[in-house]
Amino acid sequence: VFNFSAGPAMLPPAVLHQAQQELVNWQGSGSSVMEVSHRGEEFMAIAAQAEADLRQLMHVPDNYHVLFTHGGGRAHFAAVPMNLSTPDDTSLHLVSGSWSKGAVAEASKFNQPKVIGELTQKEGLDFMQQPAADEIDQNAAYLHFCPNETVDGVAFDWLPDSGKVPLVADMSSCILSKPIDVSRYGVIYAGAQKNIGPSGLSVVIVRDDLVGHAQKYTPSIFDYKELATTGSMYNTPPTFSWYLAGLVFKWLLSQGGVEAIAKLNQAKAACLYNAIDRSDFYRSRVHPECRSIMNVPFQLADPALDALFLAQAADKGLVALKGHRFVGGMRASIYNAMSLEGVQSLVEFMADFERRQG
Ligand code: PLP
Repeated sequence: VFNFSAGPAMLPPAVLHQAQQELVNWQGSGSSVMEVSHRGEEFMAIAAQAEADLRQLMHVPDNYHVLFTHGGGRAHFAAVPMNLSTPDDTSLHLVSGSWSKGAVAEASKFNQPKVIGELTQKEGLDFMQQPAADEIDQNAAYLHFCPNETVDGVAFDWLPDSGKVPLVADMSSCILSKPIDVSRYGVIYAGAQKNIGPSGLSVVIVRDDLVGHAQKYTPSIFDYKELATTGSMYNTPPTFSWYLAGLVFKWLLSQGGVEAIAKLNQAKAACLYNAIDRSDFYRSRVHPECRSIMNVPFQLADPALDALFLAQAADKGLVALKGHRFVGGMRASIYNAMSLEGVQSLVEFMADFERRQG
């Protein structure tokens, strides 16, 4: 089965098999990883290795902390404002889709959010324009954006020209999908359940000068300083998820790292968008300059065929293709663990379905 779910998503099959083998007897210890103390030597080694591998994969500079936290992506919709701003501060936001909009709503509980860029239309298609540098208030606490919108399939490569205002990126659905320059960001955070591992875990990469400014009301488990000084072990961390994330990082290194997987991701995305653009039977609402290589929503010209498309795709082992309820139609999420073969199977099915129904 090829699982095109937007998340929790497919993990690399090799990782699942390794986890299965180790589940009841980790490295001959007679215990499951889930059963060993997070402060014991064995788990501390797993945790340190996972962090080291993530640092290597993303070339994380030494002046950044890497945190493994509870609460998924949304935890940081709240943790970021609590750590980086006072209630009177302005936070700047780009809204390119549902998730970045959600981040504004959460920030409004903690500071004064201001939207400085929104999704627009170009040639009748969804498009995200870069804000002008003079729209960026240099007194703002941070500028938040989501470079890959999971629901809408909108992505952009440019970084806002924010001067001294720290950039905060929600990379839940694109982390580790292509190389980025971490030093350009103040905070990068991601829920794990797309390119990293099981849901519930989140990874935060935060520049050290942004740590230590949490508001008094910040729960300790979301205080970046508390997490940094305790090695993300202020309380019992999600140990099994952290371990699995470590296996995914090792798998990614074995595939040639982020640079190699990025080439594969480009090839997968090109294959799928070509299939969508080839005829009028399928459509994308996203402008070619802003198309995600991770989440590919598409519509059938005749929505009456949606249910049949989904049922017949599932019969072929192509599952979880139903679009998000906000957008409708289809969505194929093609994260790192999705093979080119999986995308090719989908594209063949799409061509076949069009021949039969078009
Ligand atoms: N941000 C983005 C871009 C997402 O895709 C998601 C979930 O899909 C979230 C945030 C929320 O993540 P979580 O459900 O782990 O809180």
